[in-house]
Amino acid sequence: MAYDDNNIFAGILRGEIPCEKLYEDDETFVFMDIMPRADGHCLVIPKTPCRNMLDASQAQLAACLATVQKISLACMKAFDAEGITLQQFNETAGGQEVFHLHFHILPRHDGVRLRPPGEMADFAVLKDHADRIRAALGR
Ligand code: AMP
Repeated sequence: MAYDDNNIFAGILRGEIPCEKLYEDDETFVFMDIMPRADGHCLVIPKTPCRNMLDASQAQLAACLATVQKISLACMKAFDAEGITLQQFNETAGGQEVFHLHFHILPRHDGVRLRPPGEMADFAVLKDHADRIRAALGR
């Protein structure tokens, strides 16, 4: 299926939709998930278009994974996390809802379950969590 630039993350990249931005470089952009399933739940996306892992170029995937590692290490520090769950969904049958490639970074603690999907964040809390990750990134 073709990429449709009418998706929410394309709107965020164009600056049309607000987000709690954490990081960007030439290839990738990172922001908080507005329905966080764990404290610090954030999303890494490529700046260039692709629907998901299935149509991504190796360069897009490599750039995203390098950023995933950088942000995961910052999340480990920011939340004193004990682990990271990485999620990435492909097409509707694979659980994907927004059709611009994204990697979910979920900081984890032993014995703490993920929250159910679809619960909107308290935006003051989301900003506090974003501040913690930005501080851990040193920016
Ligand atoms: P999925 O495509 O299944 O990985 O789900 C899309 C993810 O994007 C969900 O975790 C949503 O909470 C998240 N999401 C949807 N809209 C926004 C938005 N405007 N800003 C940040 N995250 C979003």
